[in-house]
Amino acid sequence: MDVLTTMTLTRRTFVRTAAIAGIGGAYFGGAHLLLKDERWTPNRSFWVSRGREPAGAPLRGEREADLAIIGGGVTGLSTAVHALLRSPGLQVVILEAQYVGFGATGRSGGVLGNGTEMGTPPGTEDTVPFVIDLVDRLGIACELERAPVAQLDPYRYALGLKHAAEGLGATVHEGCRVRSIEDGAPVTLRGDGFTLRAPKVIVATNGYTPKLGIATSRLFPAHTAAAVTGPLPREILRDIPDSILVMTSGEMYMWGRKAPNGRVLVGAGARYFYDNGLHYSGDGFLFPALHRCMAKSFPALASYPFQHTWTGPMGCTADQEPIIGIAGGSGNIIYCGGYCGHGIAMGSKAGFFLAGMLHGEKPPAWMLRPTLDLPGEPLRYIAVNAVINLMNLGLYRMPKHD
Ligand SMILES: Cc1cc2nc3c(=O)[nH]c(=O)nc-3n(C[C@H](O)[C@H](O)[C@H](O)COP(=O)(O)OP(=O)(O)OC[C@H]3O[C@@H](n4cnc5c(N)ncnc54)[C@H](O)[C@@H]3O)c2cc1C
Repeated sequence: MDVLTTMTLTRRTFVRTAAIAGIGGAYFGGAHLLLKDERWTPNRSFWVSRGREPAGAPLRGEREADLAIIGGGVTGLSTAVHALLRSPGLQVVILEAQYVGFGATGRSGGVLGNGTEMGTPPGTEDTVPFVIDLVDRLGIACELERAPVAQLDPYRYALGLKHAAEGLGATVHEGCRVRSIEDGAPVTLRGDGFTLRAPKVIVATNGYTPKLGIATSRLFPAHTAAAVTGPLPREILRDIPDSILVMTSGEMYMWGRKAPNGRVLVGAGARYFYDNGLHYSGDGFLFPALHRCMAKSFPALASYPFQHTWTGPMGCTADQEPIIGIAGGSGNIIYCGGYCGHGIAMGSKAGFFLAGMLHGEKPPAWMLRPTLDLPGEPLRYIAVNAVINLMNLGLYRMPKHD
């Protein structure tokens, strides 16, 4: 059934489901307030569980490049592909801390949507056909479904972009975490056992960006959850829509899709942790609450437990729209992110905009807009969680942009 299901649950149901990501008011001011946690949540997604490709070799020693890209998610990989399509022979080096697809990209639902979380500002009306065309042109095997709501395997999409970038001449180093960015011309990137110098640097680390000391007042990570059932009987699956959207308040929702081998994949929630924390595997009640929400919406699924559950950090901004920004005194460090859970198609298109900027082209003006400066801690923790909780309780709506 190719139907987008939108339904508003009753308030009573919501109060139960509000617990999905621990965003009920009870959490506010909780134990994480003074906790600084430097760990990163491993990628436990269904997509990666189906088989992880061996990571590329890390960079060792000193190297120079024309373009350095930090981050091997859709943003960084799409930037590399488009930079090389425009300038064959450019020396492009991608540095990925873990492995390509480790971040939000390889944990996402792989649902493709035009526009952004908040609307369709200029340049975003065609992000889905943009991805479909890219997948076709590059011959990426990622189980792309061209249904009314297109979807793919996001980890295999990332791997396909990586191979395409390498085929065009890029070098992708994995297991290479950048620890410092020294401004200058060239910019110097340093990590354990390596130094990379490049006249242009793209920071494509999205929710991880504040930990690099970049865009700290503009970007923050909000952790969200996803889960997938095992293969379901055909007669159960027949009555489940291909694409799911269930409102849990005026603003928050449970999303979902059918996944390979007759599974149903759902996700919901947002949590912010002190000091842009990047470690959250889900509280004890998180996945039971997500399952209850799924079963309430689709009673036939009640007796089918989740087979995989995982979480991941979405890069967010104060107005929930993605940004491109310039950092550093020489203007040669460009960062991009903040898709607020809507970045598979948009991040791919952003890579096209970023590659254009290397040729002096301007991205859509709205992406360069100033945003509200987020305070430092502890005010950031209080403010971000207050907004999340109010949205979850249906007491606050973000103003839509169109
Ligand atoms: C559970 C979940 C479900 C989602 N579902 C969808 C969906 O269905 N559709 C959709 O459009 N969007 C979805 N999203 C959002 C989407 O995944 C993101 O917007 C998008 O993947 C962002 O891509 P990115 O390349 O900018 O960042 P990421 O994919 O997060 O990539 C950043 C990379 O940078 C690396 N990195 C970080 N710091 C460093 C460093 N210091 N040095 C080197 N490397 C570093 C990280 O390891 C990471 O691999 C979902 C997100 C989550 C978490």
